[in-house]
Amino acid sequence: MINKQEMLKIHNLHVNTNNKEIISGLDLLINRGEIHAIMGKNGSGKSTLAKVISGHPSYQITEGNIFFKNENITYEEPESRSHKGIFLAFQYPIEVPGVSNIDFLRLAYNCKLKKLNKQEIDPLSFFELINDKIQKIDMNPLFLNRHLNEGFSGGEKKKNEILQMSLLKSELSILDEIDSGLDVDALKSISKNIKTFANKDNAILLITHYQKLIDYIQPDYVHIMNKGKIILTGNAKIASNIDKYGYEYVSLKE
Ligand code: ADP
Ligand code: MG
Repeated sequence: MINKQEMLKIHNLHVNTNNKEIISGLDLLINRGEIHAIMGKNGSGKSTLAKVISGHPSYQITEGNIFFKNENITYEEPESRSHKGIFLAFQYPIEVPGVSNIDFLRLAYNCKLKKLNKQEIDPLSFFELINDKIQKIDMNPLFLNRHLNEGFSGGEKKKNEILQMSLLKSELSILDEIDSGLDVDALKSISKNIKTFANKDNAILLITHYQKLIDYIQPDYVHIMNKGKIILTGNAKIASNIDKYGYEYVSLKE
């Protein structure tokens, strides 16, 4: 049997912010080709974990390690993690007035090419590339000329995150509440895009507290997080039990 390649491995992670411990001894292993979901109550530390994996400077790792493709990235800069292939779709994407969406996307794309010692792409060729991507995710091309996320609805911001993910072809994509604020149709469409993007060479970590996304995407593993730790791991069935019985269901299993 071929050994699976470890994409993300987190060992005994402890994280503080403002002298408060938020992640308390978390372990997680995601192999290439897998889709994982993390669920958990508000305040259990899900977004903190997402930010720490991508290198957010406001959080201090006090113990433990994060490995990406067998390389220790615990103390690496966010830029370097991004160039190595980690992408984070924010729970609350930031509006950047004055920066056009297409310029932002092209700069991000060219930064990556540069890091890979490849030639940067000119605006015209980029326009062709991004138009192809935007059509594939059913997004209106008019969004390219708007300012980054400015005045976008919740669903449009999330779609724009998906566009970035597919453009950068990230190997590990962390999608923090990509489903929040979406109506049923938008949720279906985003789920479809995520499923199309997922393949044997990448990995996806979904963070959510709703079952719908899990129903649509059917991740390989579902983890339940509580008080900064993963307390239960199973398949998509866990999510439907939580939907039926609430998070009490998990405390009964502990
Ligand atoms: P979740 O995404 O699971 O709802 P978060 O990771 O956003 O949870 O937050 C976990 C806990 O950490 C919460 O109690 C939150 O208030 C706290 N927290 C997160 N970031 C900060 C911060 N920068 N400063 C202070 N407390 C924070
Ligand atoms: Mg959160």
